[in-house]
Amino acid sequence: MARPQSPEARREALKEQYASARACTRCPHLVATRTQVVFGAGNADADLMFVGEAPGRDEDLKGIPFVGRAGRLLESLLAEIGLTREDVFIANVLKCRPPDNRNPTADEIERCSPWLMRQLELIRPTVVVTLGNFATKLIREDPTSITRIRGRVELRRIGTRTVRLLPVLHPAAALYTPSNRELLQSDFALIAGLLAQGAPEQTGEGEAAGRLGEGEAVGEDDRADETRPVGEREPVGDPRDGDRCEPSDEAAAPATGAPANGALDEAQLGLF
Ligand code: SF4
Repeated sequence: MARPQSPEARREALKEQYASARACTRCPHLVATRTQVVFGAGNADADLMFVGEAPGRDEDLKGIPFVGRAGRLLESLLAEIGLTREDVFIANVLKCRPPDNRNPTADEIERCSPWLMRQLELIRPTVVVTLGNFATKLIREDPTSITRIRGRVELRRIGTRTVRLLPVLHPAAALYTPSNRELLQSDFALIAGLLAQGAPEQTGEGEAAGRLGEGEAVGEDDRADETRPVGEREPVGDPRDGDRCEPSDEAAAPATGAPANGALDEAQLGLF
């Protein structure tokens, strides 16, 4: 599959992905209950990308990720480091809301992961911040709890790109727990330095893993995750093994019934 190179070409390709994704029917149970696909939103050429778990009620209704209370906290954390949503791209592991805010199933993650991998390939962030357990375990392909690795920067190959990966707590875990908010603030304080380092060396095939060693966090307390308010999205399920994180040509193929390419309203996508 040819890979678009210029920012303009990648932006157009991202819009095509959105057009395909919003007609996706790979998870019949989610299709039956979703209002719409929540593809992701933000800067199509962002150096910084956030990956959360799945849409909640507000996101499902509005079609934009992180627009509820956790989203407002995320915006506040961004503002504290001089950034806005227009500077970053925000997406979730799962593009459709699980009913009753249940955790995504392993099958759903496997079906949906190609969309995320394609987003990463097209947006080409240099820094990826995973929000909470679910996204972190998926991206790292490792079951280590977020509370043990939050704030620890790694070079990680995701699909076709090597990025600087920064796992942090999910903002929902900090809504009513000031200590978690402080942890998030300290981890977000690392972002400017990571962005300043620019893109990591692209190492070709194979994983460029390895913690960078600086900016290590001290989060060793699993109890931090136990403070999540009921109804807020912060998963605890283990990701499955296997190759679901590999880029998929299938993800680039328009789904049945997808709108014509190029006819997409960028405001609907939430693209800056
Ligand atoms: S694969 Fe993703 S976008 Fe498609 S129905 Fe499942 S959750 Fe929704």
